[in-house]
Amino acid sequence: MNQNRPEIAKSGRTFDSAYSFSFSITIGLVLFIAGLVISLTFGQSATIGLIFGIPLLLAGLILPVFMMRDLFHHNELDGACPYCDAPIKTSDATIRLNCPSCKRLIEVKQESLHRTE
Ligand SMILES: [Zn+2]
Repeated sequence: MNQNRPEIAKSGRTFDSAYSFSFSITIGLVLFIAGLVISLTFGQSATIGLIFGIPLLLAGLILPVFMMRDLFHHNELDGACPYCDAPIKTSDATIRLNCPSCKRLIEVKQESLHRTE
């Protein structure tokens, strides 16, 4: 059995998710503020303010949604049950699941299925 370092990848993944989450929020906020500032700066000539401000405002609002949707989208995982070889479909967001045919507990690690010890 290769059970040497199961915990490292898990914590790395959590950090990565948290990082990209705050990163997308920051980008959205920066674009939103930039759009706001440009709108206010060119407030007198409304056309320029609208041309530059509105798209930036929209980008600031839409971009985090897109990035977060990407973040919460998890890969489909196809594998065989490590106990009984039954085909299993799950997502890599799953940590543990029960095999539908033999009902034993399976652990999802590094996008593959493992027995729980
Ligand atoms: Zn099974």
